[in-house]
Amino acid sequence: MLHGMADQLKHAASDMGLRIREYVPVGEMIPGMAYLVRRLLENTSNESWLKAGFLDEADAGSLLAQPAPKPGDQDKADDLYRLAAERHKLSVSHPDVGDGKAFATEPMRDFAEQGHRDRFAAAIETATVPRVANDHTPEQATAMIAAAERAFPGWRAADPVKRANVLVRAAQAMREHRDELSGIIIKENGKDWRNADADVAEAIDFCEYYAREAVRLFDRQRLGRFIGELDETWYQPRGVAVVISPWNFPLAIACGMTAAALVTGNTVILKPAEQTPGIAEVLADILIGALIEEFGPKGPEVGALQFCPAPGETTGAALVRDPRVAILAFTGSKAVGLDIIQAAGVTPDEQHHVKKVVCEMGGKNAIIVDSSADLDEAVLGTRLSAFGFQGQKCSACSRCIIVDPKGPDGEHTRTFIRRLVASTNSLVIGDPMKPGTDVGPVIDEEAASNMRRHIETAKKEGLKLELAMDVPDGLVESVGKPYIAPHIFSGVTPDKTLARQEVFGPVLAIMHAKTYEEALKIANDHPYKLTGGVFTRKPTHIAKAKRDFRVGNLYINRGITGALVARQPFGGFGMSGVGSKAGGVDYLLQFVEPRASCENTMRRGFAPEL
Ligand code: NAD
Repeated sequence: MLHGMADQLKHAASDMGLRIREYVPVGEMIPGMAYLVRRLLENTSNESWLKAGFLDEADAGSLLAQPAPKPGDQDKADDLYRLAAERHKLSVSHPDVGDGKAFATEPMRDFAEQGHRDRFAAAIETATVPRVANDHTPEQATAMIAAAERAFPGWRAADPVKRANVLVRAAQAMREHRDELSGIIIKENGKDWRNADADVAEAIDFCEYYAREAVRLFDRQRLGRFIGELDETWYQPRGVAVVISPWNFPLAIACGMTAAALVTGNTVILKPAEQTPGIAEVLADILIGALIEEFGPKGPEVGALQFCPAPGETTGAALVRDPRVAILAFTGSKAVGLDIIQAAGVTPDEQHHVKKVVCEMGGKNAIIVDSSADLDEAVLGTRLSAFGFQGQKCSACSRCIIVDPKGPDGEHTRTFIRRLVASTNSLVIGDPMKPGTDVGPVIDEEAASNMRRHIETAKKEGLKLELAMDVPDGLVESVGKPYIAPHIFSGVTPDKTLARQEVFGPVLAIMHAKTYEEALKIANDHPYKLTGGVFTRKPTHIAKAKRDFRVGNLYINRGITGALVARQPFGGFGMSGVGSKAGGVDYLLQFVEPRASCENTMRRGFAPEL
């Protein structure tokens, strides 16, 4: 026990005959003080049990309670799901569904565990990426739309619980092949271990979460209680959905959009990104397998999902423009997203509906490092957000705005940059198949040359290059994919190209603001409104960020990537998209249409059913 603390506890323990070891930090002053401050911060944290016990006077029962949700807190959806599951004797269910706990995300692999590491390494080694040609022509896509249209009435009429169960089955299949799926992602798109594992876990989460939400959604709601009148509202599926997905979350995003469209009773054509059709085909096989398990191999429902690997510019564009398509779910670049929105507005005479578009686009996300920030946290959070998966996340940090009243060469700025550069320099650039790799390859040569062009432009515009890491010799050849090492530029003003355009790679712009208010202004001054972050220790600045930092997902005193389903529903506004948040309560509403009825229930006798 620590010297100088809780002496009564020590006496009590020694009275019980236990051996007590008292310890005291000894050594250098500065590390010792840092240690002390860290302990003080921990012990005075708003969430600590010490504060709860000594200051808030919480009773022993609540201090010792298991930190899981109480039975009364659980999501109503879980109850509904459980009841429905019992009714239909669902053979596959999430462990949480059965015992009434609220939705919990799939735990990530703990690579500190030797067992997890060994199993993962073995599974990814043998995983093979299916060879899939992006060769579906517009004519084939047209035939798929016809098939999806034929399957629609049967799928729309299917029991919503059975549809939900398709997702639960798919989630279970992904769980059973989890590391193998990670292996395919690593080999096909170059994600490192942790990012590949997170991609698979998120796909499982989307299935489990949307399954629960859909069961709730399709419950008919009675409105008010009026004598002689039954007012009801409910939802219906829209029709044929086209899902167009990007390569950067090749499983999770393709799965999330497809699962949402399917579980709400729409039939789906999935067109994945050209760079990652292999993992998308595995996903389609899993979902179709789950459909067959649930409905049998001959049911009309089996045509509910069509897989269409094809080029975006030709077949993708044709799918978007087909008048039989009711809803388009797209995630990708702004240019393609805006083209889809425009095309969706064209309504030829034979089309009897206006197409709904769910569209998630790019980001130019900023982290503000306030003058009060804890630099230990700010450096790691910024590094992770800027260079995780080589900066190829739509949520990645590409602008870091440092608040320093002393100017861009002030001590706070220089200290932060020096530490960020040193910290980034310690990242390991390597083969993503190896567990120690932090930075892997970028997706393809086209993306790499775009990143190189941005780096050259930044140099030409006179920005200060703080860091340009080197790619180890021979890596490009041995991995067979292009590499762009992390780059950090400082002295970036809002007018510079690096502050305006989405690079979608490991290139970070460091900007300066004299005040916190100016930093918020710079951060908001961009058409993209996806993620943003603030490192600050001032409660007023936290409150101000929540009010005035207008982004879809705001993160405070942590990194700005890695949103979890149901905990951080994800999506932006402005030029970052026109959808509502993936993994959130509103998401499924986009895939359905509301209906209402009013029935006069003052009947005078019944007519016989003939
Ligand atoms: P992209 O726009 O190049 O491609 C996305 C998909 O659109 C691919 O399947 C592609 O084949 C298809 N496509 C291309 N041209 C098309 C056309 N004319 N008609 C129909 N479909 C077409 O994007 P990308 O390079 O795969 O992904 C990177 C982009 O995605 C970045 O801008 C990133 O910010 C964005 N993104 C956004 C989110 C989000 O949630 N907001 C998530 C991930 C990625």
